[in-house]
Amino acid sequence: MKSMTIVELQTKVEEHDIKGFLAADEAAALYSWANRVAQFGPILEIGSYCGKSSLFLGSACKAHDSVLFAVDHHRGSEEHQLGELYHDPELFDPVAQKFDSLPTFRRNLELFALTDTVIAVVASSKLAAKAWATPLMMVFIDGGHSHAMAMADCDTWSRHLQSGGVLAVHDVFAHPEAGGQGPYLAVNSVLARGDFVWREQINSLAILQRR
Ligand code: SAH
Ligand code: MG
Repeated sequence: MKSMTIVELQTKVEEHDIKGFLAADEAAALYSWANRVAQFGPILEIGSYCGKSSLFLGSACKAHDSVLFAVDHHRGSEEHQLGELYHDPELFDPVAQKFDSLPTFRRNLELFALTDTVIAVVASSKLAAKAWATPLMMVFIDGGHSHAMAMADCDTWSRHLQSGGVLAVHDVFAHPEAGGQGPYLAVNSVLARGDFVWREQINSLAILQRR
């Protein structure tokens, strides 16, 4: 099957009203960077939610016969919990009495024919990192946004990138008025290590590349 263009992908995402937190320009940038590196190795994302970002990264992987590891415990971040600002009642398991984005995530993968490309890792970032050994070509960080979590995710997962590998970080705001500083500080601390170079910023998406 021929792979979808970015316009076809965006149109389908809109038609099906895919839930998520990713702007169109950021989605296009993820897709474009993934397309550049997917042929050289697997991609991994932290924080899939209902799979919006996974659809773009996964489609690029599919086009290059690569693989996307989509890591999320699917229990939501703080702001997704019952009673919080970003709670979505459609993403609540009444039996477990817990937030659960996994059923929707799975439906979306099927809708975009990505079940043979995307590997759901239903676990916290910390647990997945414990036994991780596979070298990666791109990592997208969009999990917990606290300072501690963003730091831990960027530090841990960036070290699994191969030379030329792409580190993409979401919700990077240089000014506190625009948003939380966790991801911004985490990106700066990776840059301070010296093994990554700054590439570009698209909306709130920062792109770094391993030397
Ligand atoms: N990338 C998504 C949005 C992610 S929202 C999109 O394109 O729409 C943040 C997600 O991170 C939530 O689904 C939440 O469950 C997940 N998350 C938060 N902390 C996490 C952690 N420590 N480990 C794994 N996933 C986490
Ligand atoms: Mg985000």
